[in-house]
This record gives sequence, C-alpha cells and structure tokens, in this order.
Amino acid sequence: MNARVNGIGMTSQRTRARLIERLREQGIKDEAVLAAMFEVPRHLFIDEALASRAYDDVSLPINYNQTISQPYIVARMTEVLRASGALGRVLEIGTGCGYQAAVLAQVAREVYTVERIKPLYERARKQLSDLKMRNVSVRYADGSAGLPDLAPFDGIIMAAAAPVLSAVLREQLALGGRMVLPVGTQEQWLYLIERDENGFRETRLEPVKFVPLLMGKA
Ligand code: SAH
Repeated sequence: MNARVNGIGMTSQRTRARLIERLREQGIKDEAVLAAMFEVPRHLFIDEALASRAYDDVSLPINYNQTISQPYIVARMTEVLRASGALGRVLEIGTGCGYQAAVLAQVAREVYTVERIKPLYERARKQLSDLKMRNVSVRYADGSAGLPDLAPFDGIIMAAAAPVLSAVLREQLALGGRMVLPVGTQEQWLYLIERDENGFRETRLEPVKFVPLLMGKA
C-alpha cells in the first residue's frame, strides 16, 4: 500500500462506514454490494483536491468533461446486475476513472471495461493495477457496440446514456444474463434487460442522469 492509501486510511474507513449506512437508508440491501462499496477506496479514483468529498453521495468531475458516478448509482446498478446471484463475466462500457469497475471486481469473476478517452483509460488502468485488481481488464475502444469477440457476458453495465435502447448490446448477453443501462437524452431512465430462453425482458427502473454515450475514440 502506498502512503496515500495509509495516510487517510483510518479516516476513510470511518467515512466509508458512514457511506454504507447512507446506502442502506437509500434502499441498497445486497450485503455483497455494500461490502464491495466498503472495500473500494473511492478517494483514490479522484483528484486529490476533491478527495475530502470522496465519500459524499455526489458525482464529481474527473476531467475531460466526465464524472465519477454517485456512490448510490454505482451500488444500485451493481445490485440490479447481481440480482440473480454471483456474477461470472461482466462488461462495463465507460470506465471513466475505474471506480465502478473496481466495485464490480469485488462481486464478479472477470470484469472487462471499455473507455474511449485515452488519458482516462490510461489512468484507470494504472489505478486498478496499483490496487492489484487482477480480474479487471481495461480496454481503449469505442464500446458502443460492446465487445463481440469476448461475448457472451453474464452482466453488462453502461455508464453513459444512449438516446435509445440498443438491440446490438443485448445480443452479447448470456442466457440468464442481465444488462443495466441509462437511456435517453434530456430525460433519462435506468433500464434492466434480462435474457432467457424466451427472449428479452425490459424493465424501466428509475430516473437517472448520466453523461452521453459518444462514438469513436478520443
Ligand atoms: N464508470 C465510471 C463513470 C464514468 S462516466 C465511474 O465509475 O465513475 C462515463 C464514461 O463513459 C466516460 O468516461 C466516457 O468517456 C465514457 N464513454 C462514453 N461513450 C463511450 C463509448 N462509446 N465507449 C467507451 N466509453 C464511453
């Protein structure tokens, strides 16, 4: 562990415990998700200047016009993804700083995460490797069409909003697989897509606010 981890270790343990209490009050029930949120040091994924706010339930800027998602939404999406139990292979589109990927790494066997902005990809990769998260693989690519070569996935999570529900991505779900994603432009909703032998089932969950899914690499 480096000095930064140790330095605010004690404080962040306490503040992380408070974060877990807040997540419970907000309705997060899955103990494995709460344990994962306690485990991952969110302050290491953001600029030091903002580290004092790392455990507030807010999204924060991570440069390049992007944000680290609010802890509640990270916990909620992970809980929805995990609803039918332990997760095998998971795909995340929109690595950003890598925080959601680190949380997923606690509850899934393998995590593949894709980012289109090179400096964010490089930083997330380094951070995840510094934290010894060996079951996460970070890719630099446009993830809007998923990762067909590595499909099928037991879970797919999108951290950026597409204007409409994509039919391409759901094809990369394994049978019994679940996908959680924000959809919309001004008004966005979180959707759950489930795949079984009869096809796909769509459920609209709750209103959300995500950055837009963009095309191509940057
Ligand atoms: N998962 C992050 C949230 C990142 S914000 C967290 O833990 O906080 C969403 C990210 O999606 C941004 O970094 C943005 O660059 C990325 N993104 C947007 N469109 C994308 C695309 N087509 N492919 C890959 N990443 C994309």
